[in-house]
Amino acid sequence: MSVITRFAPSPTGHLHLGSAYSAFFAERCAREAGGRFLIRIEDIDRERCRDLYAQAIFEDLAWLGLRWETPVRYQSAHFDDYINACARLDALQLLYPCFCSRREIRAEIRAAGYAPHAAPAGPEGPVYPGTCRDLSPAERQQRIASGASYALRLDTTRALAQTGPLTWFDRSRGEQPVNLEKLGDVVLARKDSPTSYHLSVTVDDHLQGITLVTRGDDLFAVTPLHRLLQALLGYNTPEYLHHGLRTGPEGQRYSKRDKSLSIRYLRESGLSPRQVQEMAHADL
Ligand code: GLU
Repeated sequence: MSVITRFAPSPTGHLHLGSAYSAFFAERCAREAGGRFLIRIEDIDRERCRDLYAQAIFEDLAWLGLRWETPVRYQSAHFDDYINACARLDALQLLYPCFCSRREIRAEIRAAGYAPHAAPAGPEGPVYPGTCRDLSPAERQQRIASGASYALRLDTTRALAQTGPLTWFDRSRGEQPVNLEKLGDVVLARKDSPTSYHLSVTVDDHLQGITLVTRGDDLFAVTPLHRLLQALLGYNTPEYLHHGLRTGPEGQRYSKRDKSLSIRYLRESGLSPRQVQEMAHADL
């Protein structure tokens, strides 16, 4: 089976050294296996994403010497795919509307007797205590009809009961069990936004035929959720390879806020593509 990898930036700012490393990593995994390397623009957040940043990302990647297949998939052009996937999960009766605000969730966690720092938390923040999980259908309908805002959460316990035990495979860390205790009932869509990172990334990796998902270690902890969504939606499971995150001079993770570590800035300061490539591969 041919290896297909992807680099999936969100165009909320200029490409920085950390994401350039991720792009090189994905491209190298494909090249070394004689496979294909794709790019996907993750721009579902229409408020934070800018087309001009997507263009700048392409320019910077090309300047660095990377080549990829076209056409590039833009998530913002495929909301229907995510809406369909969401409807399929809903038909499995695995989604429920949650009307809680962040503040109400914090209060509920305190009321359950947890000090704020001791409450169960995972990569997505405090684990949702399940307040709206057991609302009656009539109450749900009445609140939706009253115009209340809501998020659609996945009932992960019920979902896992439907799929049975699952595992996923990380090429460097081996077989991993799917355990969602630290994620809880994650939000997959909202009243005013029909998808989320988790849903879109799972749908797109499937539709683009990705066989090896490479990305930073910061996303290792959410991969079990993507595996669960694949099982529920009947998708094949790609392999995964999470890579270490590059760090800046003070050991900090690169961030788009740090303009001096953007490829654009380094280019404009007169460095050559080769020098910037080397920086992207080293901790500074
Ligand atoms: N769009 C995500 C990011 O920029 C990457 C998602 C992924 O590789 O799965 O962090």
